[in-house]
Amino acid sequence: MSTVLNPPPTVRSFRSPTSRSPRVSMLLRSTTLSTAAALPILTKLQHDCATPLPLLRNIADNMAADMRAGLAVDGGSDLKMILSYVDCLPTGHERGLFYALDLGGTNFRVLRTQLGGRDERVIDTEFEQVSIPQDLMSGTSDELFDFIASALAKFVKKEGGKFVLPNGRSRETGFTFSFPVKQTSIDSGILIKWTKGFSVSGTPGKDIVACLNEAMGRQGLDMRVSALVNDTVATLAGARYWDDDVMVAVILGTGTNACYVESVEAIPKLQGHKSTYGKTIINTEWGAFSNGLPLTEYDKAMDAESINPGEQLYEKTISGMYLGEIVRRVLVRMAETGSLFGKHIPEKLQTPFALGTPNISSMQQDTSEDLEAVGSILYEATGVDSNLDARKMVVEVCDTIAKRGGRLAGAGIVGILQKMEEDSKGVVFGKRMVVAMDGGLYEHYPQYKRYLKNAVAELLGPELSSHVVIEHSKDGSGIGAALLAATNSIYEH
Ligand code: ADP
Ligand code: MG
Repeated sequence: MSTVLNPPPTVRSFRSPTSRSPRVSMLLRSTTLSTAAALPILTKLQHDCATPLPLLRNIADNMAADMRAGLAVDGGSDLKMILSYVDCLPTGHERGLFYALDLGGTNFRVLRTQLGGRDERVIDTEFEQVSIPQDLMSGTSDELFDFIASALAKFVKKEGGKFVLPNGRSRETGFTFSFPVKQTSIDSGILIKWTKGFSVSGTPGKDIVACLNEAMGRQGLDMRVSALVNDTVATLAGARYWDDDVMVAVILGTGTNACYVESVEAIPKLQGHKSTYGKTIINTEWGAFSNGLPLTEYDKAMDAESINPGEQLYEKTISGMYLGEIVRRVLVRMAETGSLFGKHIPEKLQTPFALGTPNISSMQQDTSEDLEAVGSILYEATGVDSNLDARKMVVEVCDTIAKRGGRLAGAGIVGILQKMEEDSKGVVFGKRMVVAMDGGLYEHYPQYKRYLKNAVAELLGPELSSHVVIEHSKDGSGIGAALLAATNSIYEH
């Protein structure tokens, strides 16, 4: 009976190039007035999102200046410039068995790796992913950490084969924890607040390493946390293991962040912190950057309705959580003012976050003549019927938002390089220099990636950009955390 009540939508035929329904053919033939009416909206959007070279230069300069201000004093700028307490990066000489635990969203990952030094490198790695039950995300701190520790204990029980712990040693783990933490040492940090849908009682204000250690104790698991890091820092460490020239890491996924290697003397706010190597990693928290961003009315409305208005504005223009939503808001305007999709505006189109960044990315990959995939993605995500002209217009909107995002992200990277170079001439531009990239947005959105790289090349010019390598470091953060457990091991290494 349900099939009678819910006949398959006409748009299904969009998928099949050979069997086009009469209705679709009619839509495709008609060059409608509607796209003409939506055109001024597109033109204005492109104007407001434009990122010509002088604007990008200004962004890079502002990023560098904000970094400096954040290093001078806590609260000195939008950028928190958090000390990671990671003073030594992997060299490739690390040996032994190390674990990593990654908690950053709805899943957590456990990993073990056996390191064999310069010659043998990574002898073996195993990992498991465990999803966190919904009720634990809003339960008590002890419940959550007991669950994590017990999954970790089960994973440790399966240790064998090439994984060997020397006699008399405790196991050591790196802990990648991607929530806001006030770090107090390499192996301790106070949780400022839960984000990303977690609202676990009893943890904010507490040392999360202590929470985990206590839970591991309750499980009878003999393991200590040697390094507490965020995912950006772990990515830098993971990439550095293979390449000594990695100095910066950038995450472009649901959110965004960047970290880099800084000289200790360039951090005025750092009091009493000694680094044997004179270098440390700074977690910029660059998602909070805002100075000089080209924002449209759509960005402003999305921000105003967000759970954190006025905050994370750079993240809201360049990261995966938001790009699709900005496009959706433009399409709503085009539907309302320009009747882009006909008279009826489906409720789905009006639902915040109905259009995801993976959707807009997929639409941009459609090279078919009648943009069939665009039509079916649009229909499935937002409920609208579209003719060819409307689809072309939609792709233009996606491209405009991806282009702005990618180019602004590129300018941010150049800002970091610029700051490093201003402090010590030749450190960046005199030699090969690698920026390690990770995150689903960077990995899966080719146009975005291209715009980012082009902006970096435009800003640096051909000579300097030939030294700068922007490299995807896939899943480097898991092994990176284990490597940081190794470099911060309490045992001789
Ligand atoms: P997280 O940032 O949550 O740790 P990821 O690094 O895997 O996780 O990034 C996931 C994000 O990447 C998604 O929220 C989405 O915004 C973006 N993303 C995933 N797939 C695609 C895609 N095909 N095209 C564009 N963006 C994508
Ligand atoms: Mg991630």
